[in-house]
Amino acid sequence: MPKALTPSPDTFAHGLVRWQRQYGRHDLPWQRTRDPYRVWLSEVMLQQTQVSTVMGYYDRFLARYPQVAALAGAPLDDVMALWSGLGYYSRARNLHRCAQAVVAQHGGEFPRHAHVLQTLPGIGRSTAAAIASLCFEERIAILDGNVKRVLTRVLAFEQDLAKSAAEKALWALAQSMLPEHGRDMPAYTQGVMDLGATVCTRTQPRCPDCPVRPLCQAHQRNETDRFPIKTRTLRRSSQSWWWLLAVNPRGEVILVKRPQQGIWAGLHCLPMWQEEDALLSLLPATAQRQVQHLPVQLHALTHRDLHLHTVVAPLGQRQADAITRAVQGNWYGPEAWEGLGLPAPVRNLLTQRTWHPIPGDGAV
Ligand code: SF4
Repeated sequence: MPKALTPSPDTFAHGLVRWQRQYGRHDLPWQRTRDPYRVWLSEVMLQQTQVSTVMGYYDRFLARYPQVAALAGAPLDDVMALWSGLGYYSRARNLHRCAQAVVAQHGGEFPRHAHVLQTLPGIGRSTAAAIASLCFEERIAILDGNVKRVLTRVLAFEQDLAKSAAEKALWALAQSMLPEHGRDMPAYTQGVMDLGATVCTRTQPRCPDCPVRPLCQAHQRNETDRFPIKTRTLRRSSQSWWWLLAVNPRGEVILVKRPQQGIWAGLHCLPMWQEEDALLSLLPATAQRQVQHLPVQLHALTHRDLHLHTVVAPLGQRQADAITRAVQGNWYGPEAWEGLGLPAPVRNLLTQRTWHPIPGDGAV
């Protein structure tokens, strides 16, 4: 098996730095700053999320919380509401906890070194390195998914990244390929991220446009689609949930707060069950006759497809009171929905108003 040959930093890093300065992305709002608060916010938002989706959220967060202290002092529910729709909600909870830790433990200033940044909630090794190298010129390597792809191709890295020893070896190689001077670190880190995002893409990399093509062993072997090697694949599962869109005579819907662990943790959600019968058994016979079934929504999570069955139930006041007790929820009208942390499918359902319940007759 051919061994990975490491190109010298002179060639790899310098080529990348030059390319980034000339051709890399400079137009994204978080690239025009070295403020660690802004860089951290963008790095967390960009995990698992496309740039085009992040843009609006990034601007809204900064408008509401211009400094880390403002974010630290905000109620968690407000932060979750602003994050609503961006997904992977543990990021929002960690964002809030991290802001509080920066204020409480570091006097409101982000630490300058990756090894200290990494001790903060929600900041992993690669994110810590991104902040330290972009904002403080620390010579420290990042290794997110895009960068792994670039490096494994350049090196024709034959080891299986499903194994932690291989990942550790790649971290060491990444560190050995950094530029010599800290002053080049912001352009280098940005460059390797940009290259993975725009040129060395997962399928059909644009090798003719690549600044490190002369060094790239996968390209020379015409094997770019073989790297990175990662054998372990998680099988997707699928699950059906029935949720109740109960509407009281004032046009409000009942929402329950999800537990702090698991899917949509801490968000407001429609009450839901894994069996339709369990949902219907809560409704009196009169209400069961008036329910409306909406088309099933498919919602894809990282490793699971959710089939969401919505049952719309217009309720009279006494029925609504009984449901309140049964699911321990609260009723919210349209004016309150905007300010609540809601999972994206709930927000879509409420705001698109594809349901038009006949008002409950209040007879029960
Ligand atoms: Fe990726 Fe092609 Fe560049 Fe190699 S030459 S790093 S495969 S874009």
